[in-house]
Amino acid sequence: MTRANHEKSVTVIGGGVSGLSAAVFFAKENFKVTLVEASPKLGGRTYSFFDNIIGAEIDNGQHILASWYHNTFEFLKIIGSYDKLTFQKQLEVKFIDDSAKEYLFKCPKLPPPFHLLSGIMRYKALRFKDKKALVKLINTINRGRISEDKLRAINTNELFKITGQSERLSNYFWKPFIIAVFNAKPENTSAYLFSQIIKAGFLEKNGSKLVLPNEFLSKLFVDPAFVYLKNKNSNVITNNRVAKINFEDRIVNSLIIEDNTKIRSDFYISAVPFFELKNLFEKDAYDSNFKQVEGLKSSPIVNIHLKFDKSIDNIFNKRFAGLLNTQVQWIFKVKSDQMCLVISAAKEVSELDKNEIVKFAQNELEMCIPEFKNFKIIASRVIKEMRATFVPDKNSLSCRPKNATKFKNFFIAGDWTNTGLPATIEGAVKSSKQCVNYILSAAKNLTE
Ligand SMILES: Cc1cc2nc3c(=O)[nH]c(=O)nc-3n(C[C@H](O)[C@H](O)[C@H](O)COP(=O)(O)OP(=O)(O)OC[C@H]3O[C@@H](n4cnc5c(N)ncnc54)[C@H](O)[C@@H]3O)c2cc1C
Repeated sequence: MTRANHEKSVTVIGGGVSGLSAAVFFAKENFKVTLVEASPKLGGRTYSFFDNIIGAEIDNGQHILASWYHNTFEFLKIIGSYDKLTFQKQLEVKFIDDSAKEYLFKCPKLPPPFHLLSGIMRYKALRFKDKKALVKLINTINRGRISEDKLRAINTNELFKITGQSERLSNYFWKPFIIAVFNAKPENTSAYLFSQIIKAGFLEKNGSKLVLPNEFLSKLFVDPAFVYLKNKNSNVITNNRVAKINFEDRIVNSLIIEDNTKIRSDFYISAVPFFELKNLFEKDAYDSNFKQVEGLKSSPIVNIHLKFDKSIDNIFNKRFAGLLNTQVQWIFKVKSDQMCLVISAAKEVSELDKNEIVKFAQNELEMCIPEFKNFKIIASRVIKEMRATFVPDKNSLSCRPKNATKFKNFFIAGDWTNTGLPATIEGAVKSSKQCVNYILSAAKNLTE
């Protein structure tokens, strides 16, 4: 944009959505950008590939976005992918329970919070007294009736107790929502983070619609970002891990990558997962600057890709549905004969072997939609993402670092940094956007 920016350079470590979006935002500002990714592929935890067993392209895990993913949309608009998304007209989710009973949660086109209240009142899975308790909880959050300090000190199961949420309400409404968004059960989800998502997801104007990708993940996020960066003459290095960060007097002066190349730039952003940060620094430097990160823990997600012997269109005509009282929480139709079943907060399940997982997922699918008994699974692929997200419990709040660090020209991005959001695509892109904003203003000050 400006000549001043043209002279500035930035190195981004890590080519997941966070690193890719940081690189793209800087390239747009005419920075000289270098992106270094350890693995041979870009995309981090968001990618797709051709699977020989299924005989088709699959995502590493089904991703769903929401209409409050503003930073993500900005990134996708720059790389030309925004039109590869389908926005729901209104929040609408079909749930099916383990006795094959179906319930529709659908919010009419009304301003918030009336759309939500109306959706809750029409949702037949809940009794009237559950609906009253649900509205009480939303009101408590909306009106700030519990202080931020108190919310930060408790997990969501405790908030449920305080506001009288019944087991039925938890199983038929809150759990599917919380497990999907946080990849954690209510007892492992900070009440503060939960309240932030209620505000953004349910109470913001147009915030609560779900957004589904029409493309496989690499074609949506990764390939177009790579093309954009190449067109901007950015230097994208893959298959080369950053091995060391050199600094002096709280200024980073270079990076060393695995092949011993030294990279120098004005600014540096780490966009690696929380468990990789310690590998960038010598022990003393890491301990004295980032020790709190050690408190974060990982939570797995298991995706089960199934190919059937014939089209399932006649028995499942939706793009996706939520399952209730089951370990499989969401089912997505990928093609007429192909599905993806999602198990989040999957610590126990992830310990099973892959055949066992397919068997019990198939069993749950048949409990909820008995017609599946007439269909044969001809191919399956189980993908266990053991470190899919961090566990967003109350302890995690003090472990998430700010994007600016004690090193003047070194910033940290990633879905696990202190964004106020759970580990999501939006959290990843928001963190990079925050780093970009810091650096743009620092770059401006340097040239003034
Ligand atoms: C199965 C699954 C389902 C999900 N579903 C959803 C969903 O529905 N909606 C949603 O919003 N989010 C979802 N998420 C979360 C979302 O994918 C993540 O929040 C996001 O991808 C994190 O991006 P990131 O760039 O912060 O980290 P990562 O994607 O982990 O990227 C970090 C990158 O850094 C690289 N790296 C590490 N060390 C080094 C080094 N020393 N040098 C160079 N590079 C290095 C890694 O190889 C990696 O590519 C899901 C995640 C998974 C796994």
